[in-house]
Amino acid sequence: MLPLECMLWSWPIGPAGERVLSMRVFARTPLDLEKMARPRGQVYLIPERCKGCNLCVELCPRNVLEPSPQTNSKGYHYPQIREGHEGDCVHCEFCTMVCPEFAIFTLEADG
Ligand code: SF4
Ligand code: SF4
Repeated sequence: MLPLECMLWSWPIGPAGERVLSMRVFARTPLDLEKMARPRGQVYLIPERCKGCNLCVELCPRNVLEPSPQTNSKGYHYPQIREGHEGDCVHCEFCTMVCPEFAIFTLEADG
């Protein structure tokens, strides 16, 4: 499992006096990491609601989703689980939050 990451954003001044956005990433491993179980999620989709915006695909932090080659009746490519990533969803519900059409959601997976 990857260590938790802490991101710190800062706005230093560049050589031409401009503001430069920079990000420093620190990583440390929690002391009780072995005791923590990674949550697992099951992804559910309502293809007919999807408008193929790909927000869920682009913003999934686990890179679980990809556009399907299939389309719904409106011609939109709805998302599908990437091959080999079937067990990678962590039920963070980010895809649910960003979907403008309420077309995707996750539930906690059994086991
Ligand atoms: S719940 Fe999180 S990890 Fe699972 S598919 Fe949605 S954004 Fe990705
Ligand atoms: S965010 Fe919603 S509408 Fe956009 S591609 Fe994903 S499921 Fe479809």
